[in-house]
Amino acid sequence: MQRDDLERVRDATDLVELVGSYVALRKAGKNFKGLCPFHQEKTPSFIVFPETQTFHCFGCGAGGDAIGFVMRAENLSFREALERLAERAGITLTPSRPPDPELDARLLRLAELNALAAAWFSHVLWNTAHGEPGRRLLEQRGVDRDTAERFQLGFAPESWDTLLGHLTRQGATPDELVEAGLAGRRDDGSVYDRFRYRLMFPIRDRDGRVIGFGARALGDAQPKYLNSPQTPLFDKSASLYAIDLALEHIRRTREVIVVEGYMDAIAAHQFGYPNVVASMGTALTERQVRLVRRTVDRIVLA
Ligand SMILES: [Zn+2]
Repeated sequence: MQRDDLERVRDATDLVELVGSYVALRKAGKNFKGLCPFHQEKTPSFIVFPETQTFHCFGCGAGGDAIGFVMRAENLSFREALERLAERAGITLTPSRPPDPELDARLLRLAELNALAAAWFSHVLWNTAHGEPGRRLLEQRGVDRDTAERFQLGFAPESWDTLLGHLTRQGATPDELVEAGLAGRRDDGSVYDRFRYRLMFPIRDRDGRVIGFGARALGDAQPKYLNSPQTPLFDKSASLYAIDLALEHIRRTREVIVVEGYMDAIAAHQFGYPNVVASMGTALTERQVRLVRRTVDRIVLA
């Protein structure tokens, strides 16, 4: 990053207008006043100072400039916040890494295949006889249809090649499916469906992109929970299940509750605790904490 970039973005950004797109501001003398977006309050104690292009909350102590505001409001790194503001102002930044269109295209493709797989698993769960065991399990666990659909739950049928066939017909190659973690490869080079006879939990990133899957066996298959392997898109130790659904509520309450399993998170959301995420079986890792650290004051392990 170049120093220039920072100055150009700062010059092009009006903090009053920026903050005003998040909360209603009222003029108060030379400054502007509103309800703090970073803590819950009924009386405004959040001030924007146009002269210095800074803000300060007398309630929770939050303060800073436009980049600090976006970092906090959107849970972004400094670089990401700078990029967000640059985009808003129509400024092109000096690239931070050499552009790698090939890698970008590959990640996009993997996300696309995951999305297709998630849609197909969901179709199998709700619309086919194969999905019956999955529907029964959800019923036993008291997961209602609306919640199941918000989490885009699905079902992988008892088959070694049904997903393969479906995605191959949509133009996917076996190599791509192995790279996406949807297929495994035998010693003889042939490929097979990785997930079979399992309830499927699509794992999404903050933006709602499906990056991998968790899968619960319905029979006696081991392991009981099988996850996508590490892929260029998915790293379990750096992901939090349900983060896409929880983020807005985490921001508002400044608190996140971390449970262990997929089902725990789903039950919590269904029963009105939307700021719950799951660490997916492992102890909370430093990289998982980093996903929410800037957004919360409190991390509760449940
Ligand atoms: Zn505040």
